[in-house]
Amino acid sequence: MTQPLLEIQNLSVQYGGIQALKAIDLTIYAEEVVTLIGANGAGKSTTLRAISRIVNPRQGSIIYHRQEITRRRPHEVVKLGIAHSPEGRRVLTRQTVLDNLELGAYSRNDRLGIKSDIEQQFLLFPRLAERKNQLAGTLSGGEQQMLAIARALMSRPKLLLLDEPSLGLAPAIVREIFSIIQNLRTTGMTILLVEQNANLALQIADRGYVLEAGCMTLSGRAEELLSNDRIKQAYLG
Ligand code: ATP
Repeated sequence: MTQPLLEIQNLSVQYGGIQALKAIDLTIYAEEVVTLIGANGAGKSTTLRAISRIVNPRQGSIIYHRQEITRRRPHEVVKLGIAHSPEGRRVLTRQTVLDNLELGAYSRNDRLGIKSDIEQQFLLFPRLAERKNQLAGTLSGGEQQMLAIARALMSRPKLLLLDEPSLGLAPAIVREIFSIIQNLRTTGMTILLVEQNANLALQIADRGYVLEAGCMTLSGRAEELLSNDRIKQAYLG
């Protein structure tokens, strides 16, 4: 059996009196696309925040590439190859598209490599190339989402954490973004995808996990989850 790229064991996170994650386990193998589905407030974003070390777990461990990263600092985790495209996009609206991309490469100092990776992002996201000198705040919601993903890719991650890439976007743009995610998977990128749109997420994922009120209640191959009656009723509308 190959080693997992990421292994979460018995992980709990608490915000004040709210227990957001209750002893969850999750495993991701290299080159897999794994989706985390669940209702509002189930703890999906918290799981990503714990992996990228924005929140501190109360208990449990996060092992990445055979190294314990549970107490590492966020910038160390980026250097190790984990990038996070957060919910709500969080691009720097008063900076240009180019500036935002350069910011994504803050953990690197290979200027030529950074320049060529920016060109790479423009091939993947032609809309960003056309708008490279525009302030990010003037982009549409879909373009800002593309910029958030491109910025995350600028750290050359092995594991990409994507939080709600379809949130608030029109169906045509959602299709465009999912086709880019599909392209990324063909390059061998490992992806943990958090989505409210479970149908869409399970269509591109290899496996899925279901989070309910901070507990991992179900996991399986994406096609099994798509045909599971309970999942259909609760998440596939
Ligand atoms: P959503 O899709 O609404 O973001 P989610 O599944 O990603 O939902 P989380 O954002 O991880 O859920 O939130 C899990 C729980 O933790 C919720 O009860 C939420 O209200 C709470 N929570 C999240 N962030 C904080 C915070 N900074 N302070 C206090 N409570 C928080």
